[in-house]
Amino acid sequence: MKKQQYFTLKEVRLNNNCPECYSNEGLELTFKQKFVENAFYKAITEETKNEMYCHTCHTTIFPVRWTDDIEQVVAYQERAINPKPKSLKLKQLAWVVILLDAILLVVILLFITGILSF
Ligand SMILES: [Zn+2]
Repeated sequence: MKKQQYFTLKEVRLNNNCPECYSNEGLELTFKQKFVENAFYKAITEETKNEMYCHTCHTTIFPVRWTDDIEQVVAYQERAINPKPKSLKLKQLAWVVILLDAILLVVILLFITGILSF
């Protein structure tokens, strides 16, 4: 039950020409950072990716279509992004499970040591 998702880190409008429609007003570069979320925790990973989309011709521009100019701009922007540090956040369910485990452990200990008997 592991889901991989991305959140948007930064969106940059580029004034390069779109390889598809040659407009220089539509290109947008989006940097995304991966996080993993399940019932127990939400973890931010160090992995980032980028996507390019042209708002003029409504096309996703894949790296194979990038010109040298675009590649340079992307490389420059990539150095300028600030990914969030890796982190792990436990959810309530995880705390409940940890707490129940702790209580169970205490009960077992009390039982073993004879303080508690049924
Ligand atoms: Zn375009």
